[in-house]
Amino acid sequence: MDTRIYVDHGATTPTDPRVVEAMLPFFTEQFGNASSIHQFGQDARAAVDRSREVIASALGASPAEIVFTSGATEADNFAVLGAAWANEARGRHLIASPVEHHAVLEPLRFLQSRGFDVTYLPVDRDGRVDPDDVRAAIRPDTVLISVMHANNEIGTLEPVAEIGRLAREGGILMHTDATQSVGLLPVHVDALSVDLLSMSAHKRYGPKGVGALYVRKGSNVARIQHGGSHERNRRAGTENVPAIVGFGVAIRIAMECMHEEAVRLRRLRDRLIQGLVRLDGAHLNGHPVERLPGNVNLSFEGADSESILLALDFQGVAASSGSACTSGSLEPSHVLSAIGLPPEIAAGTIRLTLGRWNTDEDVDQLLTVVPEVIENLRAASAGRPRRAVPQRAAQRSGR
Ligand SMILES: *Cc1c(COP(=O)(O)O)cnc(C)c1O
Repeated sequence: MDTRIYVDHGATTPTDPRVVEAMLPFFTEQFGNASSIHQFGQDARAAVDRSREVIASALGASPAEIVFTSGATEADNFAVLGAAWANEARGRHLIASPVEHHAVLEPLRFLQSRGFDVTYLPVDRDGRVDPDDVRAAIRPDTVLISVMHANNEIGTLEPVAEIGRLAREGGILMHTDATQSVGLLPVHVDALSVDLLSMSAHKRYGPKGVGALYVRKGSNVARIQHGGSHERNRRAGTENVPAIVGFGVAIRIAMECMHEEAVRLRRLRDRLIQGLVRLDGAHLNGHPVERLPGNVNLSFEGADSESILLALDFQGVAASSGSACTSGSLEPSHVLSAIGLPPEIAAGTIRLTLGRWNTDEDVDQLLTVVPEVIENLRAASAGRPRRAVPQRAAQRSGR
C-alpha cells in the first residue's frame, strides 16, 4: 500500500480515473483528426465541441469564446503577446501584478525588451493588489491589465472583479490567469469583467498538456501560433482530441463537486495551518481568509526549504517550496520578495497544497511529521556542521 502523502496539488494533480476512462477511446477507435470531413473526423469534432461547451458553461462564456491551447503557459503567452501585437498602434503600455506566474511575467519581459512599457503594481504583505493602484497606473496608451485570480504560491485571491471594472471603464483589455481557481471557486467571466482568462486541465485532475484561453467576443487579440485555420483561425495545430475530452470531463466533475470540495479543503487547510503556525518561528504567507481552499504556505525560521523538502520526501511527504529552485541554490521567489518577506525568512518556505484525495488522516500525519522535520533540522544546524542533509541527498540520488 502506498503510504506516501501527496500535498503538491498546486504543481499538478493526479488525473481522475473517470477522466482517463473517457479519454481512452480517443486514442484508438475514435482517433480522427477533428478537421477531417469523414466520419472519423466528425466524431472527433463532436467530442471537442462537447468539451468546449462544458468549459464555456463553467465560465459563463459561450463556446465560440474558448480557444484550446497546450496549457496555461501558452494561454498566458497568447493573452499577453496577442493583446500587445493586436493593439500596438493604440499603445504600448501594459499593467501587471508582480506576483504573476512566470508564464505572464516572461512574455512581459520579452515585450519590454522590444520597447513596450510595463507597470508592475505594488502588492501588500498578503500579496494583494489595491484597485486604487490600478486606477493610478492606467494611461491613455494602456492596452492590457493582467492580474491573476489566485496566486499559485501563497494562495492569495486577487480583487479581479474590481480591477476588471476599471479596465472596462478605460476600454482596456483585462486578462486573468485563473489556472488555480477554475473548478474550485466560482469563476464567471462577466462577474469578473475579464476579456481573457487562462486555465489548464492538469491543475484540476485532467491531463497535462492541454488548457484554454477564454477570449471575449469582439476582443482585439492577435494569434501567436500560425499555421492551419484551427480553433476559428485563432490557434493553429491539430487539436489534441483525447486531452481535450479529458479536460472537459475533468471540468464537469469539478463543477459538480466544487462547493463540497472547497468546503472540505478549507477545513483540512485550516487544521493544517492552525497546527503548524503555532510552532516557534513559523509564519503564514498569503491572506489568512482570502486564499485558495487547499493552499498552505509557511516559512520556518532557522531551516531552509530544500532541506525541509528533502527530509519530508524521505518521510514520504511530497511538498514543494514557495521558491524557484535553480540547480540546488534557493533564491527567494519573486512572490515572496514582492510581499516583502525578508530573504532569511523566505529561505525556509514550504508550500503544502491539498487536493481531492487528501484526508484528515493525512493532516494528522503532516502535523506529526512536519514539526519533527523542522525540529531535527534546527537541532542539526545548531549542534554540528550542516552535513546531515547533503549526505541524505547523496544517499537518495544513489538509490
Ligand atoms: C500551473 C500554472 C501555470 C502553467 O500552466 P501549464 O498548463 O502547466 O503550462 C500558469 N499559471 C498558473 C497560476 C499556474 O498555477
